[in-house]
Amino acid sequence: MVSLSRPPRSPGYGSTPAAVLPVALVSQIHSAASIPRRSRRRKSVAIAYESGQGDGAEQGASEPQRPCWEPRDWQQQLERIREMRRSRDAPVDEMGVEKCYDSSAPPQVMRYQVLLSLMLSSQTKDQVTSAAMLRLRQHGLTVDSILQMDDATLGQIIYPVGFWRNKVKYIKQTTAILKEKYGGDIPRTVEELVQLPGVGPKMAHLAMNIAWDSVSGIAVDTHVHRITNRLKWVKKETRYPEETRVALEDWLPRDLWREINWLFVGFGQQTCLPVNPRCNECLNQDICPAAKRH
Ligand code: SF4
Repeated sequence: MVSLSRPPRSPGYGSTPAAVLPVALVSQIHSAASIPRRSRRRKSVAIAYESGQGDGAEQGASEPQRPCWEPRDWQQQLERIREMRRSRDAPVDEMGVEKCYDSSAPPQVMRYQVLLSLMLSSQTKDQVTSAAMLRLRQHGLTVDSILQMDDATLGQIIYPVGFWRNKVKYIKQTTAILKEKYGGDIPRTVEELVQLPGVGPKMAHLAMNIAWDSVSGIAVDTHVHRITNRLKWVKKETRYPEETRVALEDWLPRDLWREINWLFVGFGQQTCLPVNPRCNECLNQDICPAAKRH
């Protein structure tokens, strides 16, 4: 794979349904996300005071730090999921967004293609998104070629991706904005990306990651949302992917944020299925709170 702005890296990314989130909650969550995060991975050691050193306040010491919450067994669960994903043969590995753009195109065009494939991937299987992207690329997939294409042709090319009629509209609107406001490139911030028609938070974080090599947050789709709730990687059950993202980012070490999406999407496609998860084949069966043990 040729990177858009950096050396190659390996993970693929999934195309899974985006949850519909109330606007007020999105706004609330985004506000929360923009607040500088408190230091994660606090050390869970109590501060001890030696005799003769005063009570701490005199020494300028702060209050003892409360231990950071983290889920039970999470590191072991993560290791075992990595083991189950070792063969990298899930649909996301072979047909995910990172496999959909033309790696020989100029960086700006590649970034546009990444964004387009993310927009197509919502509520659509990886196989369908990948085939639609291939057809689009055969017509020349650039900002200008899409602006010149009539809606009916665009619809015929991307059909049968989920909600293809809406996506025709969003792709045209977003592409026009990219042309007018960003010189044909895609924005460099999550805040600007989510302003584009048809672009949600998960897509924005993946676009930042894949197109700009910037880890802006955990890309939480329905697989990540479902599995992290099953494993109780969230303190309290969460209802929406955006809630899950905020809850995970509160404790999960930042150096794992990039890996989590591709790892869990593939795991969700092959083992921890939405309905009837294959717990009997899962290495986490003995330490998963949601395991079905028959
Ligand atoms: S034991 Fe079952 S529910 Fe738990 S992670 Fe594995 S497949 Fe998913």
